[in-house]
Amino acid sequence: MSSIKNEAERCLKCPKPMCASNCPVATPIPQIMNLFLDGKMAEAGEVLFRNNPLSAITSVICPHERNCMGHCVLGKKGGPVEFYRIEEYISRFYLETMTPPEIEKNGIKVAVAGAGPAGLSMVMQLLLKGYDVTLFEAQDNIGGVLRYGIPPFRLSRDLLDMYRELMIRMGLRFRPNTRIGTNIQIADLFPDGYKAVFVATGTGRPNKLGLLGETLGHVHFAIDYLKSPDTFTLGSRVAIVGAGNVAIDAARTAVRRQHSHVTILHYKGTEDMTANRDEIEMAEIDGVEFVHYAQAVRILEDGVRCVRVVRNETEDGQTVFEEDYSDTFDVPADSVILAIGQGPGADMNTGSVKLTQKGLLDVNEWGETSTPGVFAAGDIVTGPKTVVEAVAFTKKVFPRLEEYLKKQ
Ligand SMILES: Cc1cc2nc3c(=O)[nH]c(=O)nc-3n(C[C@H](O)[C@H](O)[C@H](O)COP(=O)(O)OP(=O)(O)OC[C@H]3O[C@@H](n4cnc5c(N)ncnc54)[C@H](O)[C@@H]3O)c2cc1C
Repeated sequence: MSSIKNEAERCLKCPKPMCASNCPVATPIPQIMNLFLDGKMAEAGEVLFRNNPLSAITSVICPHERNCMGHCVLGKKGGPVEFYRIEEYISRFYLETMTPPEIEKNGIKVAVAGAGPAGLSMVMQLLLKGYDVTLFEAQDNIGGVLRYGIPPFRLSRDLLDMYRELMIRMGLRFRPNTRIGTNIQIADLFPDGYKAVFVATGTGRPNKLGLLGETLGHVHFAIDYLKSPDTFTLGSRVAIVGAGNVAIDAARTAVRRQHSHVTILHYKGTEDMTANRDEIEMAEIDGVEFVHYAQAVRILEDGVRCVRVVRNETEDGQTVFEEDYSDTFDVPADSVILAIGQGPGADMNTGSVKLTQKGLLDVNEWGETSTPGVFAAGDIVTGPKTVVEAVAFTKKVFPRLEEYLKKQ
């Protein structure tokens, strides 16, 4: 692996950088490369932080091959520049060395519900402008999926602790273990002086398979498992239904925490997997087994019953997948983990705020909901996406929210 200085030197500093234009938060990559090579670390860190307060995190867990790295012109002939490694180095350095700026408070109160990437990036933008922010979070700490989903071997928790410390030093008031929509409703916030509410409560409800056996004691939802893997007893053989990023995280965690042999059951073939390539590769290296073209049809006391799926081409060249019910097989398992997506759940009672048919918050392109003064962004608006997309949406909402506050 080349040094990060070497990576920065390889960058062509293109006048129209495709890497930056394909980054959801438009990170000014050539500018950062130049500042880094000139030894202007504090300045580089400041530019990154102001553009994307979570750059220390997105640099680690973004799907780089789809964003910056995947569009580097050098990738056409050989190795693309690995900007994310430089970004990670600068952003961590910045968090470790920065002194929180002294910002005069403007006395305007804003409430934020949900301390995941969308909530945190909104909090940071508000604090930097002097707003008086209270963050309500259902869990006992900040991070959302960053802390209660993505495993620590992929994202170190000390980064989240640094963010927490920084925001508290910048004047954030944090209310952990507080679920908006239960004791405290959105409507209760305005009489207490909050001028606006930003909702970023994510999609924490796992989708059901709708099969017999789903309620048995050895069956768990992946996102529940990932919240606190040490509290689960899985046994030596684990079958995972689903093959996206969440399934891969659950599989690699079960291998590490419970020393289980893990089999992932996937409806389609290797080439159709939605998980990131490097995550799939690492799962294989970790010893995870993949059974492709398998459709779970029933969860048994000691495994999963599957039918074989056949891949066919239609006359007009479309690929279709069909279950062959004459070909069944059982995959033995002591525990079964279901990882077939998430949606918005009963974890958020939004009162009068309008929802979409899927139960997501209905907003316009600037994150305004049907209730004046209530804004939203992140997965609760878009459905499950990525961290950098949650930050990008929040960046779009912030000026509109500020405009609203100024009119009050
Ligand atoms: C296992 C897993 C792995 C992933 N891996 C990656 C990855 O590698 N890279 C990537 O870019 N993306 C990844 N994602 C997707 C990414 O994490 C999400 O897109 C992102 O976290 C969405 O941010 P958010 O702030 O909208 O929601 P969340 O991160 O879900 O945060 C929502 C927060 O709101 C809180 N909350 C919920 N209801 C209430 C309430 N009523 N009151 C107060 N608080 C409430 C929740 O406790 C949570 O802390 C992954 C997702 C999962 C599940």
